[in-house]
This record gives sequence, structure tokens and C-alpha cells, in this order.
Amino acid sequence: MIRVLGTVFAALLGLAFGSFLNVCLSRWPEGESVVKPRSHCRTCAHTLAWWENVPLVSWLALRGRCRGCGSWIGWRYPVVEAAVGGLWAITVWQVLDPKVLNPLLLAHSLPVVVYIEVALAVGNFILYWLLVALAVLDAEHFWLPDWITLSGIAAGFFIVLVRGTMIGESGSMKYAAERTALGSIASILAAAGLILLIRWLYWLVRHQEGMGLGDAKLMALLAAWLGLPGALLAFGLGVVMGAVAGLALLAVPSERRGSDSWAFSKLPLGTFLCIGGVVSSLWGERLIVAYLRWAGL
Ligand SMILES: [Zn+2]
Repeated sequence: MIRVLGTVFAALLGLAFGSFLNVCLSRWPEGESVVKPRSHCRTCAHTLAWWENVPLVSWLALRGRCRGCGSWIGWRYPVVEAAVGGLWAITVWQVLDPKVLNPLLLAHSLPVVVYIEVALAVGNFILYWLLVALAVLDAEHFWLPDWITLSGIAAGFFIVLVRGTMIGESGSMKYAAERTALGSIASILAAAGLILLIRWLYWLVRHQEGMGLGDAKLMALLAAWLGLPGALLAFGLGVVMGAVAGLALLAVPSERRGSDSWAFSKLPLGTFLCIGGVVSSLWGERLIVAYLRWAGL
């Protein structure tokens, strides 16, 4: 019962934070304040009434159009709200799983378990909010702002360290990289280094930029939060999704002309890395274990 209530509450909270993220995603690229003025249509400046500002519901009720001028609001609004709401709900559903809770309760006192679980949930809330933000910014503007990626790395390093020291030696693979600050820093540098290496090789072969420095910082962020195995899984998933999207683009004749560097220059790799990061965070441990078993390791 607590699990269901917690999940519903997390979903509603996620919808609200997703709605705020939409405001940020529209205003950050323009350098505007996210606090003032109040929410308005970006075409006709019509200020939204409270009922035009309810996550998901208003968009559906208005069929995605502004009440003032009828201009198309865009798919991004409901998608971002549903993504943050859905991911926050899944987070709490996973955190309150009896299979996770019971062993913790056996090993620790109740206050410690509450502390660990809150740290886990809040950590994932922040991570998913950041990944949705970066995914949209890269998709819409090919922009992964340093102030988000770098502060995201710092936040991940700090939260994972706090979590790791509390959980201690409860040998789960997910926390293997969380044991020491040194291990965490090594993971962060290795993940960023991998992208820089690929970037350098691409430059040697093609004499043009493939992956950006933003992608390297994003990989460092994923390593800070997920550990090196989790970040590498996210990278693998992201590259596969990017390749599939690239092939789909190639099938559209008008997209093919004029460029042989379509593979990386036209696709927001950061967006695919973010999606890979979410998948890796939610199911990474299971995927890695399944892969190792399949490979006979
Ligand atoms: Zn309007």
C-alpha cells in the first residue's frame, strides 16, 4: 500500500517538476529568467491561467494549441512531463520493492534504511531530471551546457559517495564503483577519456569533429552516477540507437544530400547517451549480469 501511494505521489511530483523543466528548456537557450514573467505562450505572449498550466491534462484539453492564438505548443511539453513523472514513479516503485527493502532491514536499523532509501530516491530524481533536460537541449539545440554537465558530475560524485559509505559492504555490483572516492574519480576520468580518444581518432581519420566535448562531459556525468560499467552500457546503447536513427535518416532522400558526415554531425549523440543512461540506471545491473552470463564470463 505504501509502495502504491509513494509511487503515485512521486508521479505527481515528477509531473510538476517536468512542467517546470519545460519552462527552463524554453527559456535557458534564450538566456531568460525561469522565474519571471509567469508562463505565457511564446507566440502571442498570452499569459496562462492556472488551468492552462496543469501538466499533461492542459495540453490534452487544449489539444496542444494555445488558447489565445491557436499556435501549436509542441510535443516536447507532454513528453517531458510524462518522462519525468514516469521515471520518478519507477524510481519509488523500485526503491520500495520488498526484495530491496527486506535485506536492507535485516542488515541495518530502520533510520539507516530510511536514510539509504531517501538518498537513493532523491539521487535518481536529480539524475533523471538532468538527463531529460540534457536530452532535450541536445535534440533541440545541439547544446550540452557546461554548467549542467559539470555541476551534474559534482552532484553525482557527492551523492554516490554518501550513499556508498552508508551502504558499506553490502556487495551489490551496482555499488562496486561507489566504495571509494578514488574509484569514482577514476571512472569519471576513464569515461571522459574514452570519448576524447574516439574524438581524436575520428579527427585523425576524417579531419573533422565527430563527438563534441559536451559528449565527453556527459559521459563523465554518467560515470559519476552509474559507475564505469553503467556508463559504458549507456554508451553502447546510445551508439546503437544513434546508428539506427542514422540509418533511418539515410532512408529519407532529402536528408542525404551534401554531406558525408551525416552520421555524427546531424544526430544529437547526447540525446541518445541520455536515453542510454536512463535505461542503464533502471535495468543496467540486470543487463550487465545477463551479458556476462551469455558471454560465459
Ligand atoms: Zn498564443
